[in-house]
Amino acid sequence: MFILNQNGNLKYYTISSFEETGMTKHCFTTRCGGVSKGYYSSMNLRWNCDDAPKNIEKNYEIICNEIGIDKNRLVLSKQVHEANVHTVKDSDIGNGIMFPNKFDSADALITDKTNVAITVFGADCVPLFFLDPKNRVIALAHSGWKGTVLRIGQRVVEKMVSDYNSNPSDILTAIGPSIQVCHFEVGDEVADKFIDEFGYETVEKHGEKYHVNMQRAIKMQFRDAGILNSHIDDSAICTYCRHDLLFSHRQTQGKRGVMGGFLALK
Ligand SMILES: [Zn+2]
Repeated sequence: MFILNQNGNLKYYTISSFEETGMTKHCFTTRCGGVSKGYYSSMNLRWNCDDAPKNIEKNYEIICNEIGIDKNRLVLSKQVHEANVHTVKDSDIGNGIMFPNKFDSADALITDKTNVAITVFGADCVPLFFLDPKNRVIALAHSGWKGTVLRIGQRVVEKMVSDYNSNPSDILTAIGPSIQVCHFEVGDEVADKFIDEFGYETVEKHGEKYHVNMQRAIKMQFRDAGILNSHIDDSAICTYCRHDLLFSHRQTQGKRGVMGGFLALK
């Protein structure tokens, strides 16, 4: 279950199944509790936009302080809608925060290092969370429609198995707030990609238009990778429906900040 936590104006989600292990510090932010203005209001974590850098920096500080992670030990992703899973090295610690983002393609990050916070960002795309509590390995992935068709979620599980000797049946997963089938209208060419890869159960016809169910396609990948049903925690929260609380690219025609998923091993 995704639990909405509140401290003053600050609101963020935590994942109960991850919390229960006692092994992680983590969250998924909302748009509430930061210092950014206008359509970035207020917890914007998106660099390289026209939001004031000092506000963005302050927002990182606020959320890191709240969940007790060291801002200087963040590793920011590089989301380019591909399916590369990047293994965090010591020299990556601080990427995108202490020094410019040096990754070319890192839509997913994986690590077994302690007190290193990996990240994922989104404002409709699907954030995926992974924890192998037995082998102490964590991962995050950005699964937009392209990454979903490329099965990035499944790729992450496969890497946990090949590189860290994880057993898929031990891995806990979570599917964060993202645009759901109610609002994810797509062109026929995108719908066709989902039908080809995952079958008709991942699309719905709403009048003349197709809507895609990315979360269902992700659950199919997880099952193909050996994840137990009981280890898939689906928030089922739609960013578009809840644009009062969350940033949504579609709902705002792109005038929006991004939310962040943060995950670190204690
Ligand atoms: Zn919706």
